[in-house]
Amino acid sequence: MKYFDVIVVGGGAAGFFAAINLAELNPKLSVAILEKNKEGLQKVKISGGGRCNVTHAEFIPSELVTHYPRGEKELLGPFHSFMTGDTIEWFEKRGVTLKIEEDGRMFPESDSSQTIIDCFLSQSKKVGVEIFYKQSLVKVEKEQDLFTLATQDSHFNCEKLLVATGSSVKTWKLLETLGHTIIPPVPSLFTFNIKDARINSIPGVVANNVEVHILDSNLFSEGPLLATHWGLSAPAVLKLSAFGALELANRDYKFKIEINFIRQSLEETIDHLKEFKLQLAKKLVHKQSLFDLPKRLWKQLVLAAGINEDEKWADLTKVQMENLSEQLTRAQFQVDGKSTFKEEFVTAGGVDLKEINFKTFESKIVENLYLAGEVINVDAITGGFNFQNAWTGGFLAAKAMSQ
Ligand SMILES: Cc1cc2nc3c(=O)[nH]c(=O)nc-3n(C[C@H](O)[C@H](O)[C@H](O)COP(=O)(O)OP(=O)(O)OC[C@H]3O[C@@H](n4cnc5c(N)ncnc54)[C@H](O)[C@@H]3O)c2cc1C
Repeated sequence: MKYFDVIVVGGGAAGFFAAINLAELNPKLSVAILEKNKEGLQKVKISGGGRCNVTHAEFIPSELVTHYPRGEKELLGPFHSFMTGDTIEWFEKRGVTLKIEEDGRMFPESDSSQTIIDCFLSQSKKVGVEIFYKQSLVKVEKEQDLFTLATQDSHFNCEKLLVATGSSVKTWKLLETLGHTIIPPVPSLFTFNIKDARINSIPGVVANNVEVHILDSNLFSEGPLLATHWGLSAPAVLKLSAFGALELANRDYKFKIEINFIRQSLEETIDHLKEFKLQLAKKLVHKQSLFDLPKRLWKQLVLAAGINEDEKWADLTKVQMENLSEQLTRAQFQVDGKSTFKEEFVTAGGVDLKEINFKTFESKIVENLYLAGEVINVDAITGGFNFQNAWTGGFLAAKAMSQ
């Protein structure tokens, strides 16, 4: 039986960040990480396409929380104590400079997630965190203020325990044995499968600023939209997949969406088309893209409105004009299934937020048990926000455990 003052289960983003900060804040404590794989930080390694989108350049807590479909209310307090600016400073002090991209995402200057991993490994060594690889937690009990942890081949004791196992169904089951409620996991951050010539025939085309609405719901989003061979992707869709994660799972990922490609009303659009009809009378309708739409998308919407390639603006009937306005502002698509967004995917669900004290990330059910990262029912849209949840929870849990 090995004893440590604090054991962190899970050598991922939240686990390493917490263990390092804890050992720094209170060097007297013995701190260990138990990681089930032969290496830790595997998600950090593949994150952000191998570049690790560490955080996001959003420095107002009330703005930052709006990127969390689950956790918006609960993370406001924690972000006032540790957020993006602190993350940047933390890495900077340890020799890792982060850079901001145009859309606000922040990456290490090296553009390599290995920089983050090297930083965590060298810092852990420096502050004396012991790391046990190939140690998968299989049982946890608490007796007389002491936790007993069983892995497949060892036993450990500790006074304080941080569970940072990410989206691990097995660990959620163990936490249930300690009395915690687990909100059932469902995927978040996915793309929509759609079979429709309007988009499948123009893979790679991006409409920069569209509005998407999931019909029969109050789920809306706006932003760029990417056509793919199998459907739709990019921020306008990913945001909906995150904010609608539960509802879309309930609908078994079969639902209708309506897209406003030009963010104008139907009536305004009809008026504009009437003007074009006069100005462009002798021109072929499909040839010249209007409303700043990509050429290939414009052509698909024109064809879908029942306007042939040889028709000129002057030839258009009232019905064709109305159809085109519909296609531009209220185009409906049937979604049938989802695909994984390779850059980043997360799981909604986890330990019920009502059971966590967000000043310390300590469990309200079991004293001296702490929970941080994706193991709790927090997840965010893409852009560096998921790691920020791991850093914030890891830091505040470390601070509380150091006392
Ligand atoms: C492909 C991909 C790319 C991503 N890119 C980004 C990005 O660029 N920016 C961003 O903000 N977010 C990104 N994310 C999300 C981000 O990786 C997670 O939100 C984050 O890693 C969560 O941190 P965590 O410490 O809670 O969990 P994890 O990083 O998943 O770590 C959990 C650790 O616990 C270990 N573990 C699990 N069960 C046990 C057990 N029973 N015993 C011992 N150890 C156990 C696991 O092996 C793992 O090492 C990405 C996700 C994916 C899948």
